[in-house]
Amino acid sequence: MKSLLTHLECSKTGEHYDADVPQNLSRVGAPLLARYDLSRGPRSPRELAHKPGLWRYSALLPVRSPEFVRDLGEGGTPLFPADRLGEALGMPHLLIKEESVNPTGSFKARGMAVAVARAAELGIKSLAVGSAGNAGSALGAYAAALGLEAHIAMPKDTPASIVAECRSFGVDLALIDGLITDANAHVQKGIKELGWFDMATLREPYRLEGKKTMGYELFEQLDGHLPDVIVYPTGGGTGLIGMWKAFDEMEQLGWIGSQRPRMVSVQAAGCAPIVRAFEEGTEHAAPWENAHTSASGLRVPRAIADFLILDAVRKSGGCALAVTEEEMFAAWRQFCALTGLFCAPEGAATLAALQKLREQQLVGRDERVVLFNTGSGLKYLEAWAQASGT
Ligand SMILES: *Cc1c(COP(=O)(O)O)cnc(C)c1O
Repeated sequence: MKSLLTHLECSKTGEHYDADVPQNLSRVGAPLLARYDLSRGPRSPRELAHKPGLWRYSALLPVRSPEFVRDLGEGGTPLFPADRLGEALGMPHLLIKEESVNPTGSFKARGMAVAVARAAELGIKSLAVGSAGNAGSALGAYAAALGLEAHIAMPKDTPASIVAECRSFGVDLALIDGLITDANAHVQKGIKELGWFDMATLREPYRLEGKKTMGYELFEQLDGHLPDVIVYPTGGGTGLIGMWKAFDEMEQLGWIGSQRPRMVSVQAAGCAPIVRAFEEGTEHAAPWENAHTSASGLRVPRAIADFLILDAVRKSGGCALAVTEEEMFAAWRQFCALTGLFCAPEGAATLAALQKLREQQLVGRDERVVLFNTGSGLKYLEAWAQASGT
């Protein structure tokens, strides 16, 4: 089935934009959301393309021609019962969505697979991103596969394996003394003066589309049901907003009703702007000062789509909570030892959060809870040395 993409819509004003020319933010500086003619969409998952991975959802993705797709194996990741971990927590229905098997070892591949293909389709040749690490290597991978130019900036203390991986793709890489926000500022010069296209989280519309496929996959993997609770490690929030968008699309497609999982946004105590805004009841999140955490994917002091994250969390009846480095490290050791998965610290943060949710009785023992392991521990050997004391 061909892409049903019709237009882009401003997430603040609802104003429509042409989807068939390159677009970044709307006139009011808000993210643009891709819209589809869902009245012609698949009436059930059985009508989807018979393909492995996220291109199964191509009718609901923005890429119009398969010519621009370079499938490196993105999406279609396992969702499995964490029985020993569940036993330790007294939760018989605990599940793990295992995203580290994506290309480049993190779920950033989902977003970049779609956004880079769409950029190529729209004739864009030079892509740029300021990244906390994994978005840079994912952009590098798909740019290499398609023969596009990639300009990437990331903090100089990004885990060494991520830097090495990024370099292997032949990209232009700048290591910055600062955070993702400084890395973004660094590539702005090339974007303004040299015509590079900005691929930063939610500053272009299509990484979100790649990440929303996690929501569709959960529905299919749970035989036409959604979980009760989704525990998601949040940096820029693309995955959380993406899944929330997928659920709305699924309702319009007639696959589900109005029920939704409770969305739990997890951040590190050293960088928790969304948690603070959630607690203070504000619509936007003020930038976090002196952000620090060894879960580099969570070291995002300011998210452009903060209001969309907060809106999804609140509407779902979920919450936002922070975990300390110590809690995350203890959870990391337990996660690996009880699942056989060498998870990323961001994945470990979801387990630390679940322990708190249980203590505060915000999650019941029989609920179906999904923890997201968003990347591979192999990308974080420096942090693991700290966590394990080796
Ligand atoms: C980027 C990243 C996150 C945060 O994802 P967002 O969707 O941007 O909030 C979590 N974990 C890992 C491993 C990441 O690379």
